[in-house]
Amino acid sequence: MTIRPIIEAPDPRLRVKSTPVETVDDDLRALIADMFETMYEAPGIGLAAIQIGVPKRVLVIDLQEEEDADGQPIRKPLVFINPELTDPSEDLNIYNEGCLSVPDQYAEVERPAAIHARWLDEKGVQHDEAITGLLATCLQHEMDHLEGILFIDHLSRLKREMVLKKLEKAKRQKKAA
Ligand code: ZN
Repeated sequence: MTIRPIIEAPDPRLRVKSTPVETVDDDLRALIADMFETMYEAPGIGLAAIQIGVPKRVLVIDLQEEEDADGQPIRKPLVFINPELTDPSEDLNIYNEGCLSVPDQYAEVERPAAIHARWLDEKGVQHDEAITGLLATCLQHEMDHLEGILFIDHLSRLKREMVLKKLEKAKRQKKAA
């Protein structure tokens, strides 16, 4: 397993539409293992393959909502290959979202509170489930990455420009430090 560099906005690769996975094989599972390692190390709760420069329709998510007795997050890794989302609820949820490709920037985004999802896991098994709560928000955020969409695209132009300016400034300061 390898920790891979995460691509950051405004890198044009984040705007690429990812293509479907044709076979779930050991090469793909090696990519997925790298994605988990990269996500946990960052740390984050979700990562799309394109965020490490691979334009394939693969997402990894681990909300890490619970902790063990030592305060360590309990891992419940989820893999979504070729995910398809349908039946968005009219009910909306607002969540203060962030993104490993837009580091240290957060903004409230409104999304359907529930969705229906179909996907393959890392064994090639098909899943078909209704999804709610933080997982629904996270899955929609990651799904956007497969279409070349970032969470900041859901903000007003003014807010989006503010976030991108802050990001650029933070990068300059990091370089100067
Ligand atoms: Zn993201």
